[in-house]
Amino acid sequence: MTTVHNLGFPRIGGKRQLKFALEKFWQGDTDSQALEQQAQTCFEENLRLQANLDFQPVGDFSLYDHVLDHSVMFGNIPERFVSESDTDLQRYFRIARGRSPQDEEQQHTCAAEMTKWFDTNYHYIVPEFDKQTEFSLNDKPLLKQIHQARSQGYTPKPVLIGPLTYLLLGKPKDEVDPLSLLDKLLPQYLQLLINIERCGVEWVQIDEPALVTELSPEWQQAYHVAYQALAKCHIRILLTTYFGTLQQNLKLATQLPVAGLHLDAVRGHSEVKQVLACLPSDKVLSLGVIDGRNIWKTDLSAILDWLEPVARELKQRLWIAPSCSLLHVPVDLDSETQLDPEIKRWLAFATQKLDELKILGDALNKGRDAVASELKANQQAVDSRRQSERVHKAHVKQAVSTITDRHLRRQSTFDKRIRLQKQALNLPLYPTTTIGSFPQTSDIRGLRRNYKQGHLSLTEYEQAIKAVIADCVDKQEQLGLDVLVHGEAERNDMVEYFGEQLDGFTFSQFGWVQSYGSRCVKPPIIYGDVSRPKPMTVDWITYAQSLTNKPLKGMLTGPVTILNWSFVRDDQPRAETCRQIALAIREEVTELEQAGIGIIQIDEAALREGLPLRRAEWSEYLNWTVNAFRLCANGVDDGTQIHTHMCYSQFNDIIESIALLDADVISIETSRSDMQLLDAFNDFSYPNEIGPGVYDIHSPNTPEVENMVDLLQQAAKRLPEDKLWVNPDCGLKTRRWEEVLPALRNMVDAARQLRQQE
Ligand code: GLN
Ligand code: ZN
Repeated sequence: MTTVHNLGFPRIGGKRQLKFALEKFWQGDTDSQALEQQAQTCFEENLRLQANLDFQPVGDFSLYDHVLDHSVMFGNIPERFVSESDTDLQRYFRIARGRSPQDEEQQHTCAAEMTKWFDTNYHYIVPEFDKQTEFSLNDKPLLKQIHQARSQGYTPKPVLIGPLTYLLLGKPKDEVDPLSLLDKLLPQYLQLLINIERCGVEWVQIDEPALVTELSPEWQQAYHVAYQALAKCHIRILLTTYFGTLQQNLKLATQLPVAGLHLDAVRGHSEVKQVLACLPSDKVLSLGVIDGRNIWKTDLSAILDWLEPVARELKQRLWIAPSCSLLHVPVDLDSETQLDPEIKRWLAFATQKLDELKILGDALNKGRDAVASELKANQQAVDSRRQSERVHKAHVKQAVSTITDRHLRRQSTFDKRIRLQKQALNLPLYPTTTIGSFPQTSDIRGLRRNYKQGHLSLTEYEQAIKAVIADCVDKQEQLGLDVLVHGEAERNDMVEYFGEQLDGFTFSQFGWVQSYGSRCVKPPIIYGDVSRPKPMTVDWITYAQSLTNKPLKGMLTGPVTILNWSFVRDDQPRAETCRQIALAIREEVTELEQAGIGIIQIDEAALREGLPLRRAEWSEYLNWTVNAFRLCANGVDDGTQIHTHMCYSQFNDIIESIALLDADVISIETSRSDMQLLDAFNDFSYPNEIGPGVYDIHSPNTPEVENMVDLLQQAAKRLPEDKLWVNPDCGLKTRRWEEVLPALRNMVDAARQLRQQE
């Protein structure tokens, strides 16, 4: 018999119930009881949705973040959050958010850092370590969930982050080596396993995704030590790896003294054979055969073709599951009433993925005949997608096939281009500009809502947005900025706006995925060949340019960012999809140029986010992403100035690729790093122009003139001053005008002071 199980389920609720409960609680509109009640409802609903699996994951549910739950469970609370007066819940949110609901302003604490969970868009709260770090066990909440699940007739399989992945995810606050803490941490894990076993639990799932990353020999050795220690307990451990291949950790993973191993058989399919060959014969092998990172239906018959022989070989030692936790996909496709029925048929969200798994399990256990109609329906859906003319567009494939190296290059080198651009633009030294968006006020959002609900006609909506643009241009002129923008009032989101206008994209109503805490994103779905039926931004931007004699910077989102923030089709390489998007954006770029726009910014906020987990794979990714950017940007004349923007602050390891983008100007986030990050550009002798962000737009505070002058002087020590631009760290859409105006006034002032010092 093959066992069917799951590694984890989305927690936020199919209609984001937990999100809304959290936010009400944080605002003080409800009490902790109301929040806990909603959490309990979501927890029970999740169990119910997973009822027909052989095991239900428990411990994957979380009020904010499962890594933070582990820090709390192991008593790893940074000193600054230890306060007598806090309840557990208050302290929990204080760590996550820097504040607890009842706080006065002065009680705010610096929240723990947050960072990306491996290569996903989920962000976890980073555990902090120092030499004094001690651990203690506080497992009551987890044990309570186990009891609840058992008392309701479920077979819970508790889910833990493994000790080594936990240590690896944390951040040392002094010179402490996280590995040196393992000896202190292991006894707590062991005690936890003993306590879990006492609840009557047979299997526990221990997640060690660190095993798909490059590990030093010390860390590899530590795996032996850790799992030897945990083997003292009799509970059966399913060691779980996901998000990639094991490679040099493969032997290690198969040989640890645990009862079973889970493998990501989607991304790590190539290793299944090898693992089968070296897995000891007493171990369970769990194969993650359903993609937990995407929303496409699985070709079940194709899976069965290779899985059936494995099942015959392993017999009851085979388990099947999604490749990773389903945290990264939306809850239920059945909620979608507005998706095109043909496209909807190709999709599977978390609930449907579990249905697929169940069909696979039945096919393996009872024979394909037992689920013949399900398999047939699946086959028809898969075939319909494969053959659909909605997916495959001859004109797109044709256009992509004509791309040559020539399309990736500007006409001349930067030196020559910048001379022409300087002549055309006639900007002062330290030119000032912004990153694109201005406040998205509730008025603007109201306009869009009214338009979408049919209360405003298209003409009325466009007129109203134009009034906002005119006001925004006027304000920028008053401020004395040198390069203006139209302000992005017409955009709900920098990716969705373009996706809605491109062919090959569709949008769900409830396809939310947790990004962090209560924050969710609803990624567009790229289902087919991408093309641009008509101009997307040209009218807005030329309208804005018509209002001013100053140069107006056209604003686009780049192909890599559109790709990385979407659900991407899995029937062709990501690079191919990216190329199609790039070609569509290229058309927009050239049309902006033809319409007289002399500066065009193409944002690549998410370029870094798509970096593969393993260094060895970086160069391939950087190669096709850089080429996609070059393809979209480089169809213009020398005199047209291409800008790009990236909102993160780590460039040293990708600086070569950043230079290869060959954007005439790049604006980056720097204010919080005191311009130190410009060292990377300096060391590399980065040739093009740079706008290092001079103030942090995430803070409501008004940046001081002296402070920005100082930052720019520091920048000028690292880079030639005639290459420097002056701009904020990022877009201003989340700020209020009352904050934006004084901040930009000071920024313009700072630039003027620097010019006078000449
Ligand atoms: N142009 C976008 C804006 O200003 C860029 C946003 C981003 O980098 N995330 O909002
Ligand atoms: Zn940004």
